[in-house]
Amino acid sequence: MGEIINVQELFGENVFNDKVMLEKLPKKVYKELHKTIDDGKELDPMIAEVVAGAMKEWAIEKGATHYTHWFQPLTGFTAEKHDAFITAPKADGSVQLEFSGKELIKGEPDASSFPSGGLRATFEARGYTAWDCTSPAFVRQDAAGAILCIPTAFCSYTGEALDQKTPLLRSMEAIQAQTLRLLRVLGNTTSRKVKPSVGVEQEYFIVDRAKYLKRKDLIFTGRTLFGAMPPKGQELDDHYFGVIRPRIAAFMKDVNKELWKLGVSAKTQHNEVAPAQHELAPIYAECNVAADHNQIIMETLKRVAEEHGLQCLLHEKPFAGVNGSGKHNNWSLTTDDGINLLDPGKTPHENIQFLLILTCILRAVDKHADLLRESAADVGNDHRLGANEAPPAIISVFLGDQLQDVLTQLIDTGEATHSLKGGTLHTGVKTLPDFAKDATDRNRTSPFAFTGNKFEFRMVGSRDSVAECNVVLNTIVAEAFSDACDVLEKAEDVSVAVHDLIKKYASEHQRIVFNGNGYSEEWVAEAERRGLPNIKSMVDAIPALVTEKAVNLFEKFHVFTRTELESRAEIQYEGYSKAINIEARAMIDIASKHIIPAVLRFNKSLSDTVNTMNQTGVETDVPMDMLRESAHLLSETKKRLIKLTEVTDRATEMEVGREQAVYYYEEVCTAMEALRVPVDELEMIVDKEMWPMPSYGDLLFEV
Ligand code: ADP
Ligand code: MG
Repeated sequence: MGEIINVQELFGENVFNDKVMLEKLPKKVYKELHKTIDDGKELDPMIAEVVAGAMKEWAIEKGATHYTHWFQPLTGFTAEKHDAFITAPKADGSVQLEFSGKELIKGEPDASSFPSGGLRATFEARGYTAWDCTSPAFVRQDAAGAILCIPTAFCSYTGEALDQKTPLLRSMEAIQAQTLRLLRVLGNTTSRKVKPSVGVEQEYFIVDRAKYLKRKDLIFTGRTLFGAMPPKGQELDDHYFGVIRPRIAAFMKDVNKELWKLGVSAKTQHNEVAPAQHELAPIYAECNVAADHNQIIMETLKRVAEEHGLQCLLHEKPFAGVNGSGKHNNWSLTTDDGINLLDPGKTPHENIQFLLILTCILRAVDKHADLLRESAADVGNDHRLGANEAPPAIISVFLGDQLQDVLTQLIDTGEATHSLKGGTLHTGVKTLPDFAKDATDRNRTSPFAFTGNKFEFRMVGSRDSVAECNVVLNTIVAEAFSDACDVLEKAEDVSVAVHDLIKKYASEHQRIVFNGNGYSEEWVAEAERRGLPNIKSMVDAIPALVTEKAVNLFEKFHVFTRTELESRAEIQYEGYSKAINIEARAMIDIASKHIIPAVLRFNKSLSDTVNTMNQTGVETDVPMDMLRESAHLLSETKKRLIKLTEVTDRATEMEVGREQAVYYYEEVCTAMEALRVPVDELEMIVDKEMWPMPSYGDLLFEV
């Protein structure tokens, strides 16, 4: 019998959630704090003092010795600095444990070492972290003991956002304001709040940690820089939804337990398409909480894997030749009175509000496809997007048969009179029930797919924060709603005006809708005819951040200033260059110190064999051929290694910025790919015992 897990008891055990607050806080304080959480009212320092006291008591009961402001700087990872609760020892040598309201609300880490893209002059190193009280504090237990983590936003001394959280919260305010405006015009007088709901499906690879530690490329860069394909890849599709192996199952069980304790509603788990690839999805939550939870999920996967002698790889493309990992960002809009604004109902053609919202979203995505694409741009994601695997780099929207049909009716006749029905799925087996079929099939190839009552943005990289794409989604949709309201608020007859707008948007932005196979060559050509952008790389995506269109959009809704956008573009270029530089250096290191010496040893053993065989007088054709081939590949390797070293050195000397990033992309990446080719061929002929690292087969199939 396995261990019995009491999920209800476990769930949220380490979260300072509403239940705990109700229990630990005086009624009046609880109410006041809720005014801040619910209505965004500024937090009174007196209230913060009481909350901090209660939070401290609670955290100490959970074993916490430290607290930290947990934030998401622009490094792509979370950051934290731990402070113990202790005060200075008293005369008698004893200490007290303290945590003040001020310490809860605001932290002041030295910000000088976080990327700021020139936002912060070096003389002004101060940065502030401010408590995001809409995302609950939690106690995390790990090797460092237990730590009270306070989710925070991170800003510079002058208030510029230095993190992912600040713009996300700003964009949530923008979409709430514009959605409420739209709902009012449409006659809704009851909804008071609107929040984006986000559910993030996370893909990841699991490999054996001992083998991982023998791969310097994985250690330094998160992906394999060399590696020949094993005899078996993912061609049989036998891994997808396959039976989960015991070692992985034990790991997943512990991941779930840890996540549940932290109030993350881990729900679904399964094997993914590639061997050793898996997925985890929680139940959706409010956008900022979902973004925090996704960070917690990534941290937990890594930590628990190590405890199981495993290694979790979150890189977008750890292995060439098999599928990479991403995450799917499921997005919808929910009102405080429980309406999902993306729910079409059974008869979408009658649901005018839904159709307006839907066509506004089409308009937003069409107008700002470049920004959405940019939000998923990431060094590792360059290996996925547009590179023969899901999803393509071209942004398009999948609507499915039912909605497409409604829009077509509207465009063609100005009137939608019916909605396609799903019908019944006959199983053909008497003992099985017949199912009511969905009106629309799925489409896995679309980067932005309508999936029943939400949109699923599938481009995000597996390692990336989902904050970025949600900032873009929230803001572009806020703009589309705002534009619609500008028209509708002035209209004499709102229902006629709504009808006209739906038709106008549906017709004008039809080009963004594509219901076919997004992986096909034909689509690339068709998209080009339609004038849709096909942005192939991160360096080509970054400029979208600083176009006049983007600056106008983000400034209008107070999400980013021009300066913040410019700094973010700089940070992205710099981040790109640094990442490729590390990859190139790692390749140079591994090729020089491990691969070339190993091949030399192999060649020596071949020539020794030839010599011995010569003495005995037998045929030496086979070892001679092998030696020739190996020697040839070795000299190719050496040539390409020299070339890679040259271009990498040159890149390092360039000034940081766009030009350098482009050089890394065009010259360094190309030289890296070139070096890999003869090395991977060598791996296929060199004695496995002599090859200096575990193979793809060892990593992917022997977990
Ligand atoms: P699918 O199979 O279509 O991908 P799932 O039901 O597996 O959908 O859900 C995938 C993710 O989407 C989960 O995290 C789920 O909680 C989330 N999700 C479901 N409904 C919504 C919604 N209305 N808004 C946002 N996310 C949602
Ligand atoms: Mg999905």
